[in-house]
Amino acid sequence: MSDFKFQIQAKLKGTSARTGIITTPHGKIETPAFIVVGTKATVKAMTPEQVKEVNAQAVLANAYHLYLQPGHKLIEKGGGLSKFMNWSGPTFTDSGGFQVLSLGSGYKKVIDMVGGEAEEVSSSSKQERRAFVDNEGVTFYSHLDGSRHRFTAELSMQIQHAIGADIIFAFDELTSLVDPYDYQVESLKRTHAWADRCLAELNRLRSLHPKRDYQALFGVVQGAQYEDLRRQCARFLASRDFDGFGIGGAIEKARLGEIVSWVNQELPENKPKHLLGISEPDDIFQAIENGIDTFDCVSPTRVGRNGSAYTCSGRKNIVASRYRDDFSPLIPDCQCYTCRNYTSAYLHHLLHAHELLANTLMSIHNEHFIIKLVDDIRISIEEGSFFELKENWLAKYYAKGSTNR
Ligand SMILES: [Zn+2]
Repeated sequence: MSDFKFQIQAKLKGTSARTGIITTPHGKIETPAFIVVGTKATVKAMTPEQVKEVNAQAVLANAYHLYLQPGHKLIEKGGGLSKFMNWSGPTFTDSGGFQVLSLGSGYKKVIDMVGGEAEEVSSSSKQERRAFVDNEGVTFYSHLDGSRHRFTAELSMQIQHAIGADIIFAFDELTSLVDPYDYQVESLKRTHAWADRCLAELNRLRSLHPKRDYQALFGVVQGAQYEDLRRQCARFLASRDFDGFGIGGAIEKARLGEIVSWVNQELPENKPKHLLGISEPDDIFQAIENGIDTFDCVSPTRVGRNGSAYTCSGRKNIVASRYRDDFSPLIPDCQCYTCRNYTSAYLHHLLHAHELLANTLMSIHNEHFIIKLVDDIRISIEEGSFFELKENWLAKYYAKGSTNR
């Protein structure tokens, strides 16, 4: 029996933006929602209690990382992801398709993807190619110890079934923006075949373990920057029995809204759509306006650990000397735990001293900031003030002289 449900609540006239509620066995997600990333079953530097306190509704972990360490069987033995990491709310895992091809292979070009994956991936950019795709699956070498592994659609489902997240993604082939069109066509055939194999394998696993919580499976739309391929892929997946959809692959920032809108036109309205890996506030507005319900990104914690804080007037580098004796909070009226209790000067000191607490306090503020933005967008859709919010918010955030770019 499916415990998974998506109900649309309000729609914004003249756009594809909507609000809704996703119901999972571990609770509800009010959409649009920013899903915080907990790659290795932890949101870096934050306890689950702190994750809850920044109003995060769900956590997304990664099948590739958890397969390598500590192993999906161990998580299964520990009662599944939610219990293992002590996060009682809804969870997602992504299939590992992105990681086996990007971390494993040194696919530098994908990295023009929107959002924050760039740093992580570029570290492998000079390595020799370390992932090999064939029609059956992907052979790759671990970024941890160089050991050889092979992922298939079936194994990705077995891993994600063992990890036990509420929402899981079909295994797909990630291509890069510089792969030629012919290759994209060939790759898409594989992504389609793997999507069907994922459905079949998950159904097999469900019937083997009928008492387990229902896991919703999202098909992932690929097709790079090509309209015909994106639409073709979306139509194919729409004809199958997926619970929702992910939009993956390489997307240039400038074309984000356009690509999402093609895909959204082909997918059924009544199913949720997740955009994999975006980060910046302008991308968030674009995605929601074009029909995206949930999205995830590592940026808030990653840039926080690097000393950057999101503020209403752009991203600020707290390591800079002007914060040395700034005894005000990062944002004066911010309600996050960090801003209620600590000054910019203190954070500046922690960052310079390489104290671990800096990671925690900066991450709390940044996650709170982005989640609050998405919560405000949700309210603005309900109240019909989306465009007003978008205009005011982005004008302030990207005003000349702000340091976020
Ligand atoms: Zn704050």
